[in-house]
Amino acid sequence: MDILRNFLAVLSATVLCTVAFTAFGQGASPIRLSTVVIDPGHGGKDAGCISPDRKTMEKTVVLDIATRLAEKIRTGYPDVKVIMTRSDDHFVELQGRADIANRNKANLFISIHVNSVEGKRSGPNGYSVHILGQYTSKNRDLYAGNMDVVRRENAVITMEDDYSTKYEGFNPNDPESYIFMNLMQNAFLEQSFKFAQHVDREMKGGAIHNSRGISQDPFYVLWRTAMPAVLVECGFMSNPTDREALVSNKGKERIASDLYDAFRNYKKEYDGVESPANPPAKQEPAPVVSAETVDSTATFYATQILVSSKEMPSGDPFFKGNEFKVYQAGKLFKYIVGWSTDLEEAKKNHGLLKKSFPDSFLVKVENGVFSRVN
Ligand SMILES: [Zn+2]
Repeated sequence: MDILRNFLAVLSATVLCTVAFTAFGQGASPIRLSTVVIDPGHGGKDAGCISPDRKTMEKTVVLDIATRLAEKIRTGYPDVKVIMTRSDDHFVELQGRADIANRNKANLFISIHVNSVEGKRSGPNGYSVHILGQYTSKNRDLYAGNMDVVRRENAVITMEDDYSTKYEGFNPNDPESYIFMNLMQNAFLEQSFKFAQHVDREMKGGAIHNSRGISQDPFYVLWRTAMPAVLVECGFMSNPTDREALVSNKGKERIASDLYDAFRNYKKEYDGVESPANPPAKQEPAPVVSAETVDSTATFYATQILVSSKEMPSGDPFFKGNEFKVYQAGKLFKYIVGWSTDLEEAKKNHGLLKKSFPDSFLVKVENGVFSRVN
């Protein structure tokens, strides 16, 4: 027994040394999930959804769950910075929530909400996990199914002063506005999906019985965060069984503890893997398209590949070796590749670039002003 114990002790010491040496030897600091932003939805004048008996408000439930989750992470990981977009009952603008996460260079953004439908006695139940997604013909049905919740959560911006200027004409109730969101920051999609899977898995069999699964939806707050980001609708306030769990301490504690388990599992993976911005290994090399030299005041055509709230470095693997130009529009950065003064040439480039950037589209750039070319 002693021999075995000694052997194990030596073995584990060797393993530790090897690990330490490898990390040190490569001169790279270990990749760590060091900052998490927890975002309890709504607050202050914005109650979120309200229970049919008018007694329970979404803003209160989600703040309670978020506070419990924050506490658990702070206790379990004293070296992880946990930031809450609000820790009391006050109104925070939607863009402000994303700004907090971006400013703090968070590695993960968790937005917590409660769902509801109008006018039905029992209605749907269950929790759902959402990551950023686009409106395409492929997921049109899925999108339509979630449109009510997307519209409801995005509509909080209409409570802000001067929202149409601040949000550059984005109207949560206008389907056209979502077309503008077609082109999204997808550098973090894979990581977001991984975390979403952990959440969905951990919440199964928990306080809310039904899982409505993971879906991709155009939630504004997810769009504007430059990091893996997930929005959780913890259950339906309009459903009596879900509501019972959502108002009880036991239910809220269980949801927070399941979210904490998801965080733990994800962090374990995250800390052990390469930078989340790295794309997965591709089978065939992505085409690189050359771009002609154009005067920036000239009119030209290009393939727009990304709109991002963060400025990307030129060597970022996202660009797959393509030379790009970046234009700032308000708080957003627009990235274009494969430009040409000749429309036919630009179209040809776009055809090739679509292989690497499936969400890209053709734009006309006139004195720095973009318009989409169909
Ligand atoms: Zn909400």
